[in-house]
Parts: sequence; structure tokens; C-alpha cells
Amino acid sequence: MGMLSYRHAFHAGNAADILKHSVLLFCLDYLGQKDTPYLCIDTHAGAGFYSLDSGYALQNREWERGIGRLAGFTRDHSGGETASASPGPLERLTALARDFRPCPADSGLYYPGSPALIRALLRPRDRAVCFELHPADFAILKQTLGTDRRFSLRREDGFAGLKSLLPPPSRRACVFIDPPYEIKEDYENLPHSLAGALKRFPTGLYIIWYPLLGNKDAALPETLFGLHRGNRCRAELRTASRTDRGMYGSGLVILNPPWTLKAALESALPVMADLLGEDRHEWDLRWESPSRGRGI
Ligand code: SAM
Repeated sequence: MGMLSYRHAFHAGNAADILKHSVLLFCLDYLGQKDTPYLCIDTHAGAGFYSLDSGYALQNREWERGIGRLAGFTRDHSGGETASASPGPLERLTALARDFRPCPADSGLYYPGSPALIRALLRPRDRAVCFELHPADFAILKQTLGTDRRFSLRREDGFAGLKSLLPPPSRRACVFIDPPYEIKEDYENLPHSLAGALKRFPTGLYIIWYPLLGNKDAALPETLFGLHRGNRCRAELRTASRTDRGMYGSGLVILNPPWTLKAALESALPVMADLLGEDRHEWDLRWESPSRGRGI
């Protein structure tokens, strides 16, 4: 498998995207509550947005078991069982995804990637940096975000480039780390890159997504937790039975999470597990605040 074989268009709008994107939006909303500008760094940005009714997305139709199950995303979709029960982060994502168009006249069905979601929340004084290595995805990203002066787009390795951006001048940043995990180097480069970033900027808000794969031990969250002494949390969603093949769920490690995220996840995760689960509907939230005293 080539290093750049991963194309997010196959997976856009799936259950993993719902988890990672609802938390990303929540965190940016939180940073946006103070006047001081923030920087958002997307180390693995993808194409920026995805068509759901053409191309790659049609192959597995993963979005139908993801964003398609959230009420109000598509008017004609049979899913969407809970209109009113969706709590904050899910409603926020669903509304932004439903209203997203790459250009105003377009009537196709789309799902916004992380760069489009960041763009929707960024204020005039905030800044974003997106890294994307794949030439085709980078070209789309450049076409759609290239004219937005708040964005800096880099066709570079996000793991390598992260450190140089930290700490940001305003000392406020959200770092979103969403690698494909298709090559084993991702598992090595991630802790290395994160350790370097934390050394330069220990107070940053870091959101790291990881898959739960049947043929792998989920050692990564522990490794990432071990790199940080401050507040941290881990949110997991397990939607399928564990088999040797494929992904049975996914999770997020969040370092220096907004304190309000705990209650938001405690209400959103059960809804996600309910709606997005296939034959498994489990969620788990681990929240650690070292200041409250852990052991010795
Ligand atoms: N963050 C995107 C979103 O939420 O919409 C999806 C990103 S997708 C899971 C991972 C992306 O990382 C792919 O588009 C892949 O081409 C890109 N990629 C892989 N290795 C990379 C690296 N070292 N630096 C930057 N981008 C990389």
C-alpha cells in the first residue's frame, strides 16, 4: 500500500467523523468565547469537503450510517430518528453540515471536512494552518480555501511541521491531529510530534483522533496520555463487534479540554452510541484532572 493511498472521500461523514467533528466544533466554539484570537492547526486536513452523491463516497455509503442518521441532515433521508433529542455538539455539527455548500448555487449533497468546519467558525482575527500531503486533496483544498487570507495551506508533513508553529503569538491554539493510520509510521510519528509540540506549548488544546482496530491493541491513547501532565480526557465510541478486520469504533484523546466538554460529551456520547452503533452501542469517557490529586 502506497504511503498516500488513503482518501478520506471514502469515509466522509461516517461515525468517526461525527465524533471527531462534533468535538472539534465544540472546542472552537469554546475558544471563540474570548476576544483573544486563536490559531487552529489541522495537521492532516484532507480535501476540505466531500461530495456524498458522487465519486468515492458512493462506494460504501459510509455517510448513511453516520451523518445520514442525524436528524435534519437530509430532508428526504429515511434516517434521523432523533430531531429534538440531539444535544449541543451533535446539533451544531448537523446544522453546519446540512447548510454547507462548496459554492452557493450548488444543490448536491456534501459533507464538510475539518477545514470547512474550521472555516465556518473562524472569526476574522483568528488564523488556521492546514497540512495535507496528498496532491489531489491538496489541490481541492487550495481551490476552496486558497483565497481565504486567514488560512495558510501547506503541502507538507503535518507531524514534522507542527512544532514550528508553536507557541502561537496569542498563546491560544487548537491542534487537530487526524492521521490516516494506514502506515505504521503514523503510530511512531504521532507521539514524537505531539511530545515536541507539548514541550513548546504545554497549554494548547490538542484533539487527537484514533481508530479502534480489531488486529491492534489500543495502546496509543495510553501513550498519548503519558505525554501530558495537565487535564486530559479520552472519549471512545464502539459501534461494531470486534473482529480481526476493520474498525470497530474510534476515539479521541483531548489534552487541556475545555471544562465544559465533560458535560457535553456525557450527553452527546450516549446519543452517538445509540444512533451510530451497528451491533454495538458502547461509549466511554475518561476524564483526568491531575490538580484534583492522582495517587502520590
Ligand atoms: N482531517 C480531515 C477531516 O476531518 O476532514 C480528514 C483527514 S484524513 C483522516 C487524513 C489525511 O492526511 C489524508 O487526506 C492524507 O492524504 C493526509 N496525510 C497523510 N499523511 C500525512 C502527513 N504526514 N502530513 C499531512 N497530511 C497527511
